[in-house]
Amino acid sequence: MEFKDLGLLPELERAVLEAGYTRPTPIQAATIPVALTGRDVIGCAQTGTGKTAAFCLPALARAYQASNNEAVLHTLILTPTRELAAQINESLSTYGKHLDLWHTVIFGGVNDKPQIAELKRGVDILVATPGRLLDLMQRKAVSLAHVQLFVLDEADRMLDMGFIHDVKKITQALPQKRQTLFFSATMPTEIRKLAANLVKDAKTIAVDPVSSAVEVVAQNVYFTDKDRKRDLLVHLLEGADFQRVVVFTRTKHGSDRVARHLAKAGKKVAAIHGNKAQNARTRALDGFRNGDIQVLVATDIAARGIDVDDISHVVNFELPNVPETYVHRIGRTGRAGKGGTAISLCDDEERSYLSGIERLTGKRVNVVEQHPFLPVPGRAAPSNPNANDGGARREASRRPVAQGGPRGNGGNGRGGANGRGGGNGRGGAKRPEARGGQRFGGRGSGHKPQGGSRPARPGGGERAAVAARSR
Ligand code: AMP
Repeated sequence: MEFKDLGLLPELERAVLEAGYTRPTPIQAATIPVALTGRDVIGCAQTGTGKTAAFCLPALARAYQASNNEAVLHTLILTPTRELAAQINESLSTYGKHLDLWHTVIFGGVNDKPQIAELKRGVDILVATPGRLLDLMQRKAVSLAHVQLFVLDEADRMLDMGFIHDVKKITQALPQKRQTLFFSATMPTEIRKLAANLVKDAKTIAVDPVSSAVEVVAQNVYFTDKDRKRDLLVHLLEGADFQRVVVFTRTKHGSDRVARHLAKAGKKVAAIHGNKAQNARTRALDGFRNGDIQVLVATDIAARGIDVDDISHVVNFELPNVPETYVHRIGRTGRAGKGGTAISLCDDEERSYLSGIERLTGKRVNVVEQHPFLPVPGRAAPSNPNANDGGARREASRRPVAQGGPRGNGGNGRGGANGRGGGNGRGGAKRPEARGGQRFGGRGSGHKPQGGSRPARPGGGERAAVAARSR
């Protein structure tokens, strides 16, 4: 199954190919065609399976169909955490970049004024966490009266986090006549009951849990000092089995710094991140694929498009503070049942992140106790208020392990093939009627919305902090 077989709008198909995806994941292949027919779906899938695109692509298609010159909230995506909400909103920007749609994200813990102002200006798609949405609904800052597509993401986590009553209140405000895409990693009784109340004649789709990536990838952590990480990395890269390595850094500047250091040490390295031009990015990826480049240093966002087979190692130069990000990262290796190794360089401040990761995966990360860059006592940076001392206790109680090689099998079944013709030529037929031609009037090919055809909205640049236009 390829993206062109899913019945997506050409603009959406183009965007996913530009994101570097070559094939739909199993949840995408199963969900997208069904969702595009307007049918309800119960998707049993975890983070890491590609479920975000499985609902974002139909959500964008649906919002595009329903949209008009004025943005009206037709699509609501409800998710439990602000991190997931922000990620989904980013995905909407990525996949919807060739469509002329407005979307935004609202979550608690931040000033609500810019969110209210953005809602007032009008959005086609809203991503929200339950508490803030309910609050803004009660204050009449948002109405769900015109919602045609409702996505409930991570329903079981909503339950775990105590949001289920908020979710129920929100769903009561939705129109009865609507489409619902319901996603949950697990289906305990309460979640089944909730689903039964929300969907009609739904198709149930289940895919292998992402934990298979967690199972198949050998995971090691090296405790060290922040300022020794670069040298430790060079040392590790001397290992003969470090053939095709992705190094993750938190920031764009960080990835440039690490790449420069590795280049000085004689490594064949390239950095890819949002500040790099597309052709530099493509060159780097091609070099990485054909073996000219041993190490690709990337930020999480840039790494989304990396779909390269046989990545031997993923290195977390910094540990992510969102545990799901760790699972995404390590899923880059160990694909299709092949073993790979994930290595985390962990300084004193990051130990709490490691605990969070272990809680999420339910698995301990092996500590490599013998290496030349162990933390020097008394040298660590002042400790982070978020850090705890659990790491020290854990470290002492763990046994050293060999640096991991391949083990186990399973894999998440994500496609590893690359290179395919970008054929489209479907799905476009509906657009002229749906748009009344207004979005494209006098604008080039008529296949590619050029943006700006919607009336300009007041509010300018600051809006970018909370809202994004999908193009
Ligand atoms: P998710 O389960 O939606 O959080 O996605 C997990 C990761 O897989 C994200 O980093 C996505 O960018 C990536 N991804 C989603 N769909 C595909 C695809 N078809 N091919 C390759 N990577 C993908």
